[in-house]
Amino acid sequence: MKWIDPCVIVEADCASWKSGKCNVCIDHFGCVAFYWRHEGERAGPQIDEAMCTGCRLCFQVCPLNVIVDVDEQTGTGSER
Ligand code: SF4
Ligand code: SF4
Repeated sequence: MKWIDPCVIVEADCASWKSGKCNVCIDHFGCVAFYWRHEGERAGPQIDEAMCTGCRLCFQVCPLNVIVDVDEQTGTGSER
């Protein structure tokens, strides 16, 4: 069941995608929507939109606040 819009990771600002030095959301958070994605030489976390209920719990896990809702990423969302 979908509650609200899914969340996404802003890869341009994610420490894992930038330097590989943060895996907090993968290693220390148990949401099944998170998975590890490889893209060429780079790798980092991604959220499976089909698995994400939009609960927003992951917002509290990321130290850099780079997990946002889809509307926020596109600039149409509200402040959290
Ligand atoms: S914690 Fe909630 S909002 Fe974040 S990815 Fe998982 S289901 Fe989606
Ligand atoms: S916790 Fe945040 S900065 Fe760290 S890997 Fe996850 S999304 Fe990226």
